[in-house]
Amino acid sequence: MERKIYETYAPEETFSLGVQMGQKAKPGQVYTLVGDLGVGKTVFTQGVAKGLGIKEPVSSPTFTIVQEYHEGRLPFYHFDVYRIGDVEEMDEIGYEDYFYADGVCMIEWADLIREILPSEAIRITLEKDLEKGCDYRRITVEASGSEAGKDEKL
Ligand code: ADP
Ligand code: MG
Repeated sequence: MERKIYETYAPEETFSLGVQMGQKAKPGQVYTLVGDLGVGKTVFTQGVAKGLGIKEPVSSPTFTIVQEYHEGRLPFYHFDVYRIGDVEEMDEIGYEDYFYADGVCMIEWADLIREILPSEAIRITLEKDLEKGCDYRRITVEASGSEAGKDEKL
């Protein structure tokens, strides 16, 4: 397992980390985001969208599980599964057509659908540490499956 830890001290820093990841994202890449409400999952996602060349504003999908963006370098599928009742709802939207295709998937609250996550994913965990300040975030990026060990992945 390959792991990198980043520390940010402002939303802009988390955003630019996302931009860098969006710039090097490959077709078919799945990113999972785990962390409490308000930790910065959407801020990070907005950075990734910018890095993919998406100009449209990105916010968490409220009434749908997934929001699609097609104006960037690669299709971008932004999931927020916070309100999901059952993983069957993922079947209903045909999640496999997103996860195993040539776009880039970003899944907020991915731990709620752990049983269907692809084994090859880049897992991103965001955490606060109030001792280090209100705006401090620790961002752990891990590659699993055969993603691990590939150059420039994280
Ligand atoms: P989530 O999607 O995880 O619920 P959001 O990205 O919507 O969280 O919100 C994160 C909030 O935390 C924003 O209001 C943002 O301005 C604030 N924030 C403060 N410091 C940071 C930081 N270092 N990284 C990301 N967001 C931060
Ligand atoms: Mg969010």
